[in-house]
Amino acid sequence: MNEMILLKLGEMVLKGLNRRSFEDKLQANLHRRLHPFGQFRVYTRQSTTYVEPMNEECDVEGAFEAIKKVFGIVGVSLARPCEKDKDAILTTAKEFLDERLRAARTFKVETKRADKTFPMTSIQLSQYVGGELHEAYDNLEVDVHHPELTVHVEVRDYAAYVHADAEPGAGGLPVGINGRAVSLLSGGIDSPVSSYMIAKRGVALEMVHFFSYPYTSPEAKEKVIELARLLTPYCGHLTVHVVPFTAIQEQLRRSCPEELFTVVMRRFMMRIAQAVARRCGAKALVTGECLGQVASQTMEAMMCTGAVVQLPVLRPCIGMDKEEIVQIARKIGTYETSILPYEDCCTVFTPRHPRLRPTLSEVEYAEQELDIDKLVDEAVAGIERIQL
Ligand code: ATP
Ligand code: MG
Repeated sequence: MNEMILLKLGEMVLKGLNRRSFEDKLQANLHRRLHPFGQFRVYTRQSTTYVEPMNEECDVEGAFEAIKKVFGIVGVSLARPCEKDKDAILTTAKEFLDERLRAARTFKVETKRADKTFPMTSIQLSQYVGGELHEAYDNLEVDVHHPELTVHVEVRDYAAYVHADAEPGAGGLPVGINGRAVSLLSGGIDSPVSSYMIAKRGVALEMVHFFSYPYTSPEAKEKVIELARLLTPYCGHLTVHVVPFTAIQEQLRRSCPEELFTVVMRRFMMRIAQAVARRCGAKALVTGECLGQVASQTMEAMMCTGAVVQLPVLRPCIGMDKEEIVQIARKIGTYETSILPYEDCCTVFTPRHPRLRPTLSEVEYAEQELDIDKLVDEAVAGIERIQL
């Protein structure tokens, strides 16, 4: 018999977001994420979701690691099955949890009995297994209130299961339950983190990347695609929309005052991202902006860039220190790729003295001569879509 995975579901607090849609969405996401690891049955009983391998070919360890990255789950435990017999349960607890039983000072046993034909009550079974474990391990004392280790026993229809306390899950809400957004993904540290944070709140993402060939290299583009790929265990499947941005940047260099170049360029990014959002039904834009980090991230500059779009711009890194952002980037595994030294289109034609506090009127004046719609339409028409 194969091991099984038990999941504790996360918060279901949003009003109008009922438990049923939460569970359905999570189940659909789990099915997709588990696909590479074999066939599993996923079902929910009494606030626990069970992931049961359907045959011996399933890679349960692989599935366990993948599940730790699925949003909507706060705890994951691996459970070992055995015969529905008190001594088989005891032996399984000793074998499966031996290391933890040796390491703990205090413990208790907690039993859930779904099979009401089992000849002992939950309390009797807990007492029996607990008593025997206490005998067998000199280091262990029983503490029913604050044990270091809880040995969980579940007597279910076809088998009994033994597992220890859950390991932390990814938290958050199932991806897709809060709609869709377009995330502006550069090759930096911040935007993969901001994407992760919004996906964590249950939002399905589409990525937009602005690419300025030949000013930025094919390696820079590959790096961004790799970052998106690193995010898929959290975000699910992703489309990266690679936008040709060279023509716009060259046009801006010719016609725009140097100190306003960055803010005007970022307004084009927002307009194009919004056009992508309209096409894929996204209801918000996401950026990795952080207050005061660079000239384009002052409140005045962000007001100017936000002014060209109707969709809300979500900036989850806005109040974070770089160190805090780096910490998340390391945790989710994007940091090492983000620091690879390839240029971003934002570093092409960077003004020597960018205006820190641009006003809307001077920025609009700087754009007066431009055929904005045409530039945006041409960029959108040239988009390359990469599915991950
Ligand atoms: P990051 O670490 O995310 O690159 P940053 O501190 O370098 O951020 P900027 O380069 O000013 O900041 O970019 C701010 C935000 O604008 C990025 O977080 C990202 O959301 C978006 N952005 C910048 N360059 C690009 C790009 N080439 N393609 C898509 N989005 C971009
Ligand atoms: Mg950047």
